[in-house]
Amino acid sequence: MGKKELATLFGSDYERYYKVNLFEKKGFKRQKCGKCTKFFWSLKERDFCPDHEYYSFIGKPPTNKRLDYVNTWKEIEFFFKSNNHSIIRRYPVVCRWRDDLYFTIASIVDFQRIMENKVVFELPSNPLLVPQMSLRFNDIENVGLTGRHYTGFCMIGQTCNADADGGYWKDRCIELDYELLTSRLGIQSHEIVFVEDVWLGAGAFGYSLEYYVNGLELGNAVFTEFEGNENSYHVMDNKIIDMGAGLERLSWITMGTPTSYDCAFGPIVQRLVDRLGIISNSEIMSRYFTAISGRLSEQINDINTLKPLIAKSLGISRDELSKIMSPFEAIYTIADHTRTLLFAIADGALPSNVGGGYNLRVILRRAISILEKMGWNIKLEDVTDLHIDYLKQMYPELEEHTDDVRTILRIESDRYVGSNERMHAIATSIKNANRQLSVDDLIRMYESDGITPDFLERVGAIDRIPSTFYTRLADLHTEQNIAQTHKQTYSLAGIAPTKALYYEDMSMREFSAKIIRIIDGRNIILDQTAFYPRGGGQEPDTGVMGGIEVIEVIKQADIIIHKLQNRSNFVEGQTIDASVSNRRRESITKHHTATHILNSSARNTLGSWVWQNSAFKEEDYGRLDITHHSALNKEEIWNIERKANVVVRQNLPVVINTYSRGNAEQHYTFRIYQGGVVPSNSVRIVNINNWDIEACGGTHVRKTGDIGIIKIVKSERIQDGVIRLEFVAGEAALKYIQRQDSQLTSISQSLGSSREKVVESLQKMIYETETTKKKIKTVLRKISPHIASSISNSARLIPKGNIKIYSIYDEELDEDYHIAIGEKSIELDPYLIYVALISRDQGLRVIVFAGEHARKKIHAGIIAKQLSIELGGSGRGNERFGQGGGRFRDKIGDSLKSIQELVVKEFSRTESGGKRDE
Ligand SMILES: [Zn+2]
Ligand SMILES: [Zn+2]
Repeated sequence: MGKKELATLFGSDYERYYKVNLFEKKGFKRQKCGKCTKFFWSLKERDFCPDHEYYSFIGKPPTNKRLDYVNTWKEIEFFFKSNNHSIIRRYPVVCRWRDDLYFTIASIVDFQRIMENKVVFELPSNPLLVPQMSLRFNDIENVGLTGRHYTGFCMIGQTCNADADGGYWKDRCIELDYELLTSRLGIQSHEIVFVEDVWLGAGAFGYSLEYYVNGLELGNAVFTEFEGNENSYHVMDNKIIDMGAGLERLSWITMGTPTSYDCAFGPIVQRLVDRLGIISNSEIMSRYFTAISGRLSEQINDINTLKPLIAKSLGISRDELSKIMSPFEAIYTIADHTRTLLFAIADGALPSNVGGGYNLRVILRRAISILEKMGWNIKLEDVTDLHIDYLKQMYPELEEHTDDVRTILRIESDRYVGSNERMHAIATSIKNANRQLSVDDLIRMYESDGITPDFLERVGAIDRIPSTFYTRLADLHTEQNIAQTHKQTYSLAGIAPTKALYYEDMSMREFSAKIIRIIDGRNIILDQTAFYPRGGGQEPDTGVMGGIEVIEVIKQADIIIHKLQNRSNFVEGQTIDASVSNRRRESITKHHTATHILNSSARNTLGSWVWQNSAFKEEDYGRLDITHHSALNKEEIWNIERKANVVVRQNLPVVINTYSRGNAEQHYTFRIYQGGVVPSNSVRIVNINNWDIEACGGTHVRKTGDIGIIKIVKSERIQDGVIRLEFVAGEAALKYIQRQDSQLTSISQSLGSSREKVVESLQKMIYETETTKKKIKTVLRKISPHIASSISNSARLIPKGNIKIYSIYDEELDEDYHIAIGEKSIELDPYLIYVALISRDQGLRVIVFAGEHARKKIHAGIIAKQLSIELGGSGRGNERFGQGGGRFRDKIGDSLKSIQELVVKEFSRTESGGKRDE
């Protein structure tokens, strides 16, 4: 069932679905829009719904209060608080609790959890109100231009579970919203229009009433009543009200400024205008944005096509209009982009070229490009400071992240500037080639070289930015790639969940259990098990079951499957003894707890943007991938390691408790989701004495001291924004240190030095080797004329044309020697061909020189190629010098003999005037 069918369904019984008490009480009449045929409710008779209306509030707000952004929120907060709503702090804009979304895109997302592909609603209070910052990147082009589009906006969520304590349904909801508009804001009731609509979500749907004032949609109250799909649906047990209203718009309607940006960013727009000395023309701007409001629609979404029309209607030229508007459009866009970056970075996201970070880097680069285009000397981090200063009244947590946000913006801006030279070179080549670039070309250029079209426009490589560029780009990276879930390999219908003994008693290694099912003789399902199955980055236990080795343990849904080394003759129903390898479990467990400790020490050392990206816990090592902007230096690695080992030495208790998901999130924040979302409503929290608190299903030590030691053995940047730490813990760390130690011993022995002086001795040896090499070169230079003359004398003369060949297979001397001697020999004897086959570790090296006369008959490169082919390799070169290699040592004798033949053959060919193909 699509939206259209739903609209018909609900519209056919509007008395039940749309008509609320308020409409009856106040006399709102249901009418049909003469343009789009939608139904709406208003006091006055109207021909059309407000979708086709100009913003008549610009310049003359219909409210009795003028409220800036923060004060609008305070007014609304006060109203709902006095009407028994709990006021909830905003959730992070980085949506850690759902793996199908990178960012929180609406207030209702806060309370949605996905379980078995179905959305469930979990409200921390009922009813509630939340000022939820929401990020959307699907309309970047229009941001800063239309007066109302944003990449980040505050959605005020009035949310309610109708069937739980304190809940209400549509009558009360609309009554509250109406009262807010009329009695709190002083809007006349005849200015308010409610439009009927429908809402369709994942596994649930409902009907909605959008409310408009003077042409501006202020809010949308969604009544999620049904669960299911088109074929079968039923009324939900817990019906949900999801009323979302844009704070930017509510403030705007009270201020009547030309754009919502003028009030939504508090004093920031004006500060930038003053600082840059921009002259505004508020009369033109008001008329301009009023005109846009009536014309911008789903049909005409590209503002650039509207501009000439509007300029005409304002009676000014396109140029005059753009002279007035461009600086404001730039300021609005920068204010929006910096505010979005502020919230995202403060909540732990990093601009990058992958995942959700992608769109952050897009808007960051766009903002810098705009600053460059306008020639403004403003730093993004200075604008975010202004935002923090204003927004801290509403979002005090932002202030804690001032430094982190500055750090990330500075690093990213430097990166952009660092690539400037390359970008200019590419732009120049486009200009020179006089190429027309398509949107796809531009997207490729952004993806491969980070070049924004704003930059290309500024340097004159393109005429204008295609209006769909940013939207197309954002579309490519909006959908979160959900990790491929493990293939369900066995059909396990009717089998009861396996009792997980490893949770009940983490020290249990021996147990007996009943065999429930045997699949293919090798895969055993028990009623209970102490074997920890592969999962959450933790490798599985191994051990023995009824005398046969258990080599793999996996979990499918709630059922644990043990894979045996060999087929067994176990029978279903029998009770069997099993034991888990203690050594392996202990070591994996230490690596697991060490992962948690390192994660927090990395965050402590590097910054609040550090999150676990993924982790892997094996018997002999562990791996932790963290989000961070740059590769780590030695000092940073050592600091992370040092802090982690302090935690180990403090011997802190590791406490594991299970909480309801809502409680865990409220109490410990979304930081618990380091290992990803938890798809159940109870959450196992592993708390290392408040140093690190994570939701985790793995096995852990009781006290951090049990780990013994944590040693980072490797760190590398594995992708943009992700650093991998490899480490060893406990016994594995001791083994690692012992191995290092014995290597050191053997190095010092080879050097004939003591361990204490090994570095000194090594440096001395390197120095001596260099000196010896230099000496050898000098000696070679001095003696090469003598050797060369003896070579010339001992070379074989080929009867024809006076050519001489010298060939040698050398197992002792190297390439450097033969190049020096070969060069000297042909210099001394222009009729000479010098061929050396040199023995190397993995094979043979071929070196060929041809003297000045000799090369008229045959080229060195041809000989090198031919020989190398015979030796099972390849070679090439020019007339004077050729080189190559091969690996057939048994062909050495033959190939040396073949040189003369080859030369003679080549000889007669050139004599007869033949030409080679090459
Ligand atoms: Zn309409
Ligand atoms: Zn864990």
